[in-house]
Amino acid sequence: MRISALTPWCRLHALSEVDPAELRAMGVRLVLLDRDNTCVPRGEVDPAPDVIAWCARARKQGLRLALVSNNWSLAALRHTSEALSAPVVTFALKPLPFGLRRAMDGAGVPAEQTVLVGDQLLTDVLGGSFAGIRVILVDPQTERDVIHTRLLRPVEARLLEGVPYGWERAHGKRTGKAS
Ligand SMILES: [Mg+2]
Repeated sequence: MRISALTPWCRLHALSEVDPAELRAMGVRLVLLDRDNTCVPRGEVDPAPDVIAWCARARKQGLRLALVSNNWSLAALRHTSEALSAPVVTFALKPLPFGLRRAMDGAGVPAEQTVLVGDQLLTDVLGGSFAGIRVILVDPQTERDVIHTRLLRPVEARLLEGVPYGWERAHGKRTGKAS
């Protein structure tokens, strides 16, 4: 049995696989981005080049962006916010929905027109479910992570068994094979 609050809207390997034009065509106006291991590999300072390029593509499509992070380092978050030219919600405390709601209120965009992209089931996907937001789950950029996240990865892997990669899920089809 699959728990719907822990099931991503769709699953991709990386943010760069998200098609901003397709999101716009679906009526999405705001993309909330997790920072660690979604935009910035854990232990590094700068966003990956493909992430910077993706943010530029998304903005060109008219998408608004905001970072929503559980990271406690304000300096790191400010640095990423500047690098991606996106505002940041700090102390988001995902999976609680309040930080995600603050980000949507800040952008003036409702949950139905928002998606969240993140790498963790128990913070990003669950938090998005609590806030009524569709979540695109991506693979973590690196296996490096804080200890409590590393300990939860096997649990996440178990919960994700059989969840296929691809956009098909976002279109309501359940075809495709896990890869
Ligand atoms: Mg993360």
